Amino acid sequence: MTRRIDILGAGLSGLSAATILSREGYDVHVYEIRADSGARFDGDFQGIENWTSDTDFFDEMREWGFDPEEFKATPFNIIDLIHPDDVITQPSTDKPAFRVVERGTDSHCIDQGFKRMAQAAGATIHYETRKAPEECDIIAAGPKESSAIAFGEIFHTDHPNHVSFQLNDKLAPGAYSYLIIIDGIGLICTCLWRQQKKSSRYLNETIAWYEEHYELNRRPIKRVGGKGDFSLPDRYIHEGRYYVGEAGGLQDFMWGFGMRYAITSGALAAHSIMERCDYEKEIRGRLVPLVRASAINRFLMNRVSNRGFKMVATHWVRDEKRHGDGLHFMKWVYQPGIFRRALWPVVKFAMLRRKQLKDGRMVSRMPFRKSLSRDVWEPSARAIEIGEEWKSIQRGGGQTSFAENEA
Ligand SMILES: Cc1cc2nc3c(=O)[nH]c(=O)nc-3n(C[C@H](O)[C@H](O)[C@H](O)COP(=O)(O)OP(=O)(O)OC[C@H]3O[C@@H](n4cnc5c(N)ncnc54)[C@H](O)[C@@H]3O)c2cc1C
Repeated sequence: MTRRIDILGAGLSGLSAATILSREGYDVHVYEIRADSGARFDGDFQGIENWTSDTDFFDEMREWGFDPEEFKATPFNIIDLIHPDDVITQPSTDKPAFRVVERGTDSHCIDQGFKRMAQAAGATIHYETRKAPEECDIIAAGPKESSAIAFGEIFHTDHPNHVSFQLNDKLAPGAYSYLIIIDGIGLICTCLWRQQKKSSRYLNETIAWYEEHYELNRRPIKRVGGKGDFSLPDRYIHEGRYYVGEAGGLQDFMWGFGMRYAITSGALAAHSIMERCDYEKEIRGRLVPLVRASAINRFLMNRVSNRGFKMVATHWVRDEKRHGDGLHFMKWVYQPGIFRRALWPVVKFAMLRRKQLKDGRMVSRMPFRKSLSRDVWEPSARAIEIGEEWKSIQRGGGQTSFAENEA
């Protein structure tokens, strides 16, 4: 008899597992609360990183049996690195350092590519359907709570394809902002690792900054955003259920990169169900060391302000000169090393809080940090104008996929 597998969530992790299991002949049912895969993100650009292993992630995907041609991906091997004092340097590397994909419901989006693969393999996806987690074998339902949020604006632009990454504690408290432009569509996003009352003012000020430094000719389309839930569970299989992707806390605490972990953990859960590996062991061996290293880096980043961010950027520049590769620094950041290993007990104690979740799992969770006095500043005249401009676009039907009060 065909074994039935029920999966909660039709995001990247759930669909990865669904594709592999369906191809193997399992009767796979995926339950998704939203109307479509990718609806959580609605046109957001995200980067799939290529620095946490020596293998190109697209080759890894092919090994799992996924076809990267199913969605649009734009590789980058150079970025503008914007230091907190507005100096811009350009780390570069030979091969793709990351690829930008679009999240959402249009057919070229990565979510739709994975949906097509899962359906072609024979999985049944039940959209706008609730299912109790206890009735599912794989939990792939994404984040529950907020440890950090990101707010962005999508716009038309005449600027050529480009990615900028800005370390700036004022515009993005505790974190970074970025500009991504792909084929005439731009995204300016700011990430907040400290909770603020009026988060959109950080986005308005960030947009004002980028407008001043790049020829954008920006015509706003919509605003997007989302939350990230950063927690390390004690176990990845709980009461027989596999926790994959962000639902399993498999997320980068330092920058918020999670797509690679989502796809990998979905594939590993499927292989474990097929009795080809031990999920708990694989996750602990392959992903947990990276997540831990990212948590330690986050702990260090939480202790510094723009002066510390400037030291990071300067170190990155020196590291590239020394090794002749701008990606070497990013790879180094994830290596456990003696120093990071020694710091781990301190990080667990000082940054993470033990919590029992509703489903009974115990996790060490990073709470959303409180704002600091330096987070309060007078907005610039241009940022106020940008805020007003957005309000009027909203009155004319401009959409926001993420409300400030969702954080
Ligand atoms: C603004 C933003 C920017 C980001 N940028 C990047 C980036 O550049 N690079 C990167 O690698 N990562 C990035 N991430 C993180 C990345 O998006 C996630 O790590 C990744 O999508 C997690 O995949 P997942 O399958 O675990 O969850 P998701 O992709 O979120 O999928 C979970 C699905 O489950 C559904 N669901 C939720 N609850 C239920 C329920 N009760 N029943 C049924 N279905 C349910 C949701 O609707 C969703 O479709 C970003 C995140 C945000 C918020």
